[in-house]
Amino acid sequence: MELDHTIKDLASTVFGIQMLRPFQSVVIQRILELDAQNVNHKGLLVTLPTGSGKSLCFMLPSLLVEGLTVIVYPLRSLMNDQVRRFTKLGIACIAIQGGQSREQRKALFSLLDDHRCKVVITNAECLSQQAVFCELAHHTISLLVVDEAHTIVRWGEGFRPVFASLAPLLAFLPIKQILCFTATADQAVIQGLNDLIFTRGKPHLVRCSSDRPNISYHVFRTLSKDHTLAALLAQKNFRPALVFCNTRESTLFACNALQRTHPQIPCRYYHAGLDSNQRKALESWFGNQQEGVLFSTNAFGMGVDKSNIRTVIHRELPDDALSYLQESGRGGRDGRQSRAFILLDGTEKGKLTQLFFSVDACYRESLLAELGESLDFCNGCDVCSHTVDAKRQGEDALLGSIAWHPLRYSPSSLSTLLTSQAAYNSFSKTLSSWRQKEIRSALLLLLSEGKVCMTRRSRRLYLPCKTYVTLLTAHHFYKKLTYGTKENRACTTADLPDHAPSIPAD
Ligand SMILES: [Zn+2]
Repeated sequence: MELDHTIKDLASTVFGIQMLRPFQSVVIQRILELDAQNVNHKGLLVTLPTGSGKSLCFMLPSLLVEGLTVIVYPLRSLMNDQVRRFTKLGIACIAIQGGQSREQRKALFSLLDDHRCKVVITNAECLSQQAVFCELAHHTISLLVVDEAHTIVRWGEGFRPVFASLAPLLAFLPIKQILCFTATADQAVIQGLNDLIFTRGKPHLVRCSSDRPNISYHVFRTLSKDHTLAALLAQKNFRPALVFCNTRESTLFACNALQRTHPQIPCRYYHAGLDSNQRKALESWFGNQQEGVLFSTNAFGMGVDKSNIRTVIHRELPDDALSYLQESGRGGRDGRQSRAFILLDGTEKGKLTQLFFSVDACYRESLLAELGESLDFCNGCDVCSHTVDAKRQGEDALLGSIAWHPLRYSPSSLSTLLTSQAAYNSFSKTLSSWRQKEIRSALLLLLSEGKVCMTRRSRRLYLPCKTYVTLLTAHHFYKKLTYGTKENRACTTADLPDHAPSIPAD
């Protein structure tokens, strides 16, 4: 009871929080109770969704424990954010990071020796340096906190090899408790942390649902991701927006495509290949944006401390549900409604794609099931709101236009016609906002799938029998052909406007 009172008092006086969330109370109490037992513990593994106030779970205990609190981050930007948070609250802390001179380090360590500071913020690489390791070995470390702990497992091989060698390092440091925090953890991550961090034995697991009720999940099937992206991002209330692409090149291409069609939308691209000054400038640019769009590889995800991202779009999907939830979880950190869109054009492969291709299994439930979690209630996804559109955007219109005039158009002349004022029936009119390049790419995709065929010499488009039959038997298409508008019914080749593009001779 006394401990409970102390926690509430500190939360109010230092952090300005009048009421802790239930899991915050549970985690903080547990940490302090174990600390009071004065023996070395196996530690805690805490999974809390992004934006739920997990920093407080180790910031508050750091004020009450006797020894040092060492916080390990995977990214410099996260270290700097945490330093800012401590400094703002008037809590002394030091940051040990790369690029510091021996004198600078000496001055920082002297603050620890004089007991003027009890909080050290660093990364795994610095922790493994002999000078840092030896300095910390002289102090009692009450809490060793690893934030974004899933990266220790995910980035260990190749990208950050030092992560894989943390176990012996931690075993030699005088650590009372190890605390790992992450927003999401599947079984592989939990097992990996047991092997790499919790070598004393399996940690106590405090698991809050990784579900983010303020994020809704939507899938767009489309023949042109660029077109759908532009249509989504043109809506002002969908911005600021973060668009995840899988390669550095695609961040650039997608950003350029949006800039061409919507020059009024502020947009930039970001990836690990840019130098640190450029990246810093982009982080700061996006941080201040109220309606900007950032195209990024997953290099950006975790370093973002932007609370008001309204939309996260995945132009391409990551490999697994854990990465997806981490990335989509960048949205709505202010607690307000945020949307997560997934764009699929049918060329994607992998388990996660199958999950989003489903038309009858709740996306949220399936994602959480991948993490071993169950869900009682879905707060918003296309399946639960019965708004799944299994058709790819643009497909019916393109197939319909070709079915209407088989062997008449080449990809080039059809894309010219459909984007011109001469669009002449309800199928082609639905594509009038597309760019010619987008239509040509869509046709290429349909050709590669065998849904559309092209004569070899004259390059005229037609539908193979199978596509034609499927199209005719599709209820909505059949209805359009037989009971459509007057305009539809009357449309024949004779109705083509005079200025329709000329067809190249065979
Ligand atoms: Zn659902």
